[in-house]
Amino acid sequence: MPDPISPGEVWLVGAGPGDPDLLTRKAERLLGAASVIFHDALVGPGVLALAAPRARLVHVGKRSGRHSKDQKTIDQMIVAAALAGERVVRLKGGDPSIFGRATEELDACRAAGVPVRVCPGVTAASAAAASVGLSLTLRGMARKLTFVTAHAKAGEELVLDWSALADPEATLAIYMGKAAATSLAANLMRAGLAQDTPVVMVENASLPEERIFRTRLSLLALAARTALGDGPAMLLVGKAMLAPCPGTDGQVVEGVHTCGAASC
Ligand code: SAH
Repeated sequence: MPDPISPGEVWLVGAGPGDPDLLTRKAERLLGAASVIFHDALVGPGVLALAAPRARLVHVGKRSGRHSKDQKTIDQMIVAAALAGERVVRLKGGDPSIFGRATEELDACRAAGVPVRVCPGVTAASAAAASVGLSLTLRGMARKLTFVTAHAKAGEELVLDWSALADPEATLAIYMGKAAATSLAANLMRAGLAQDTPVVMVENASLPEERIFRTRLSLLALAARTALGDGPAMLLVGKAMLAPCPGTDGQVVEGVHTCGAASC
């Protein structure tokens, strides 16, 4: 098989949600062929272990509030490595094209005349739904799936089109929503989304530390504050998230599933 990366070329590669088994075969091949890998904080050791033994691993991660490298610096590092003739992988959590600042890096490479390509990945919303065992869309009930980020800059108000988001026939897949959960829930209810709209929170989807919490919109703020830990979390909101539950017929009592089934 030909080497998938030429010297001087950059690939933005989706690392998926964490479980190395959720990498694409192409991503695995690219990781094995890279001479340098610039990776995010959310890319874990299981995925990085697939790098070639002599590859240089450069952590350029950002976690909310702790920016270790600014975007411009990352752009420059990638471009410089490519211009020096390296086989460059820029490894990003999930899918590079979803809340992954891919455009900045694509633009920087193109502006410098560096060939750049994208390898898609499994996004966190897909992994979270799979973990819960539910579909993000539901015929007749959830005809629309909205990927939205609830990340606001420190000290800034979260500005979103709440009336568009409060659609009872849609599923909201909310990225970076933990810190803004209180404001999210209040705004969605004010815009008319029912208080008992089902919500699923999945922390560390696909990883051994994965945790799943079921609640409803009126209890989201409390649930996010009390249940979620430090890991990345997806908030999935909408009627499609109402799981059939053997013990209580899907009923959720004060944010807790009471059936005691293993899947709850
Ligand atoms: N490009 C990524 C998203 C980057 S934004 C993707 O396609 O998945 C980072 C946010 O993604 C986190 O704050 C969290 O909301 C979500 N996320 C990423 N990995 C996750 C995981 N394993 N479990 C739950 N949420 C995750």
